[in-house]
Amino acid sequence: MIIDLRSDTVSKPNKAMLDAMMNAPVGDDVFAEDETVKKLEERVASMFGMEAGLYCPSGTMSNQIAIKAHTQPLDEIICDQLAHIYNYETGGWAFHSGVSIKLIPTERGILLPHEVEASIQPDFDWLPNSSLLCIENTVNRGGGSVYTLEEMKALKPVCEKYQLKYHLDGARLFNALIAKNYSTTDLSGIFDSISICFSKGLGAPIGSILIGEKSFIKKSRKIRKVMGGGMRQAGYLASACLYALDNNINRLADDHTHAQMLAEALGKNTLVSSIRNVETNIVIFSMIDKNTTDRFVTYLADNNIKAVPFGGNSIRFVTHIDISREMIERSISLIRAFI
Ligand SMILES: *Cc1c(COP(=O)(O)O)cnc(C)c1O
Repeated sequence: MIIDLRSDTVSKPNKAMLDAMMNAPVGDDVFAEDETVKKLEERVASMFGMEAGLYCPSGTMSNQIAIKAHTQPLDEIICDQLAHIYNYETGGWAFHSGVSIKLIPTERGILLPHEVEASIQPDFDWLPNSSLLCIENTVNRGGGSVYTLEEMKALKPVCEKYQLKYHLDGARLFNALIAKNYSTTDLSGIFDSISICFSKGLGAPIGSILIGEKSFIKKSRKIRKVMGGGMRQAGYLASACLYALDNNINRLADDHTHAQMLAEALGKNTLVSSIRNVETNIVIFSMIDKNTTDRFVTYLADNNIKAVPFGGNSIRFVTHIDISREMIERSISLIRAFI
């Protein structure tokens, strides 16, 4: 039994999802002829009260398209310094969009209105033009931390006052919805665009969606094409995402319980020095020193548990659809036995 806690991207489709994929009606989506892709785009857009959607190969592409569509060169975008857009998208904001980036330092990646307001550039020739705010929910590097509905709404008036577009990197948005108990329609009217991943907790093999107004999605379609993301019979993939929406949302609560169980066991081991507050399916914790961190990762690997060091003395565990209760129990007994 291999227990892969490296990421929620490592899960594989089950038989039922594969069957749904095999039976999907498809067509050439570059000609807008794939009915399964269209069904997915329309369904997700309407779930969140948006006009239109665009199926993309990855969350990185969805975010990068949004940045490109919302900005012009010489603009500046605003992010938390923990943001995936800043840390893990290869500097794409500069490469694709010719924009600079203003980073706001936070503990857990939750931005407050006064912090955003203070980071907006005044209107001088020698300063870039602030034009886009990107937030992340849940915040990966924040330890899966979650924005409340009120916290997301509170940033909107700042965007309106300074004419910023407002983008949500919702790679793990459904984890947030389950954890904080708000619904998809509660998010309607807040954001100019939202990206959501199907290949994280939702358990599909490939794909992300970008949703927004019709005119924004029309522009985004062109940008997706020039980035090489125009796909043909993509309905085979989109049907896995439709299956995930039907079957894999409510079960995210199990992943959250499993993460809590791991955190509790870690908390009882004296070689663990700190654990970030666990709100969803991510557990980030630190060991007392570097040597113990390396030793723990090796010990886990020797016992068929995969985990990755997360900088300094930190390690990250991520629970997901392929992690069973039995695997969590085995992990807990191994955590207990580590001395
Ligand atoms: C995973 C992730 C993405 C997108 O990643 P891809 O691997 O390109 O699909 C974007 N934002 C966050 C917060 C993520 O965790």
